[in-house]
Amino acid sequence: MAKDLYAVLGVDRNASEDEIKKAFRRHARELHPDVNKAEDAEDQFKELNEAYDVLSDSQKRAQYDRFGTIPGAASAGGGYGGSGYVDFEDLFGGGFGGMGDIFSSFFGGMGNTGRTQMRTEGRDMGVGLRLTLEEIARGVDKEIVYDRLSPCPDCGGSGLAEDGKEVTCPKCNGQGRVVTVQRTFLGDMQTATTCPECGGGGKVIENPCPECEGQGRVPDRQHVTVEVPAGIKDGQQLRISGFGEAGLRGARAGDLIVTCRIQPHEFFKREGDALHARANVSMVQAALGADIELDGILPDEKVSVHIPEGCQNDEVIRVKGFGMPKFRSDGRGDMYVHVNVVIPKKLSKKQRELLEELAEEMGEEVADVRSPLQKLKDVFNQ
Ligand SMILES: [Zn+2]
Ligand SMILES: [Zn+2]
Repeated sequence: MAKDLYAVLGVDRNASEDEIKKAFRRHARELHPDVNKAEDAEDQFKELNEAYDVLSDSQKRAQYDRFGTIPGAASAGGGYGGSGYVDFEDLFGGGFGGMGDIFSSFFGGMGNTGRTQMRTEGRDMGVGLRLTLEEIARGVDKEIVYDRLSPCPDCGGSGLAEDGKEVTCPKCNGQGRVVTVQRTFLGDMQTATTCPECGGGGKVIENPCPECEGQGRVPDRQHVTVEVPAGIKDGQQLRISGFGEAGLRGARAGDLIVTCRIQPHEFFKREGDALHARANVSMVQAALGADIELDGILPDEKVSVHIPEGCQNDEVIRVKGFGMPKFRSDGRGDMYVHVNVVIPKKLSKKQRELLEELAEEMGEEVADVRSPLQKLKDVFNQ
């Protein structure tokens, strides 16, 4: 014996087409997933739809009346993705926002139609943090000061006064949504919107905390110390869990996302884990070779650089292990010393004589910058 389709819709066996349509609408609304939290609501809805499928079609209805069987029922394996399912657009004129939810809920999410609830979780927040190259070379603890909605210190985030309690929202009866009708030139437009009273949560507070007015969060200036690991890169982000915006009435807080901004350095240029530096070397040091010392990026660090004999201007000397520390791992990059050969702009008499001697030895013509009087003196001194 097949089930009584008239009973499913709650109508008489001789109900008119219009009565059947109205009954279906009424039941469909009752089984709306936002209204009906019962576990078998979906099954009930399927059953309702199946009954309507048959009874709204005069041919199928006649067949059912005569034989008591459901024509073509369950042929789609219990679901109704097949041919015969009800046209909601027709049924509700396409204007009832809530029907979209039946679609999305029962058809596996055909779109985000009107199920928006006000956010209760706190949002993530972003701040920038300026750091020097020295700071990230060794890693640093930095205090960040920012304004956010913090958990209310008076109620601990619950939003309740001492004798306060949560009750079902009277405006939406706990549904979290209200349906409004707008008159437009196209006809009445019904839209379901988030309940302004409870923000969609379906609950309001009796005797809210006076400090936060029941929100559970208050604007506050927050201080947080962030541990910046050595070797972090410019633009890299650190996430501090729970330090974003506090949630509504104790809901989960967002995170604080710290974007590291590394300021340019006076002497060093960073490239990945490598550090580039310029070193002034005299022409004599460049020619003869030398050992020089540079300041490193770490506090009091000295870097010995061997300038090889015959070093050229702009030559690059690699010093292993004196670059930036590797992010979250051992070891350091290398330092690259760019040699800048410096030519003296002013020479003492003795220095000039030595260079002239060198020029003669190398067979090179040099300019004679002596004054006429000096030349005369030099002749007599020879
Ligand atoms: Zn409070
Ligand atoms: Zn409400």
